Amino acid sequence: MAETQLMVWIDQDLCTGDGICEEIAPDVFLGRDDGLWVVKEEASHFGKTIIFDGNEAPDGSRGVARVPDSQVADVVDAATECPGECIMIEPYDPEVMAARGA
Ligand code: SF4
Repeated sequence: MAETQLMVWIDQDLCTGDGICEEIAPDVFLGRDDGLWVVKEEASHFGKTIIFDGNEAPDGSRGVARVPDSQVADVVDAATECPGECIMIEPYDPEVMAARGA
């Protein structure tokens, strides 16, 4: 199981759909069929893949993914480059994880 100190979500109201986040950090960001991007947790880091796309797990502000420590630099880079300024990075909070319902 990956160590994690941060979590990330996307404010999809602001997402421009350019896909820069996935280009920089494909283990954490994924394009959805409707042209918006979502966050995910990869099995290679967490033992199970969870995609926060509103189907099996919530999306938007409740679609909060853990960021493996090995991906922090890329996720911060993606947030910096994101033209919508809609990649939200927060300190890891177990209570948020418990409430997300995934
Ligand atoms: S970089 Fe930002 S605006 Fe672009 S697809 Fe990713 S979340 Fe959306």
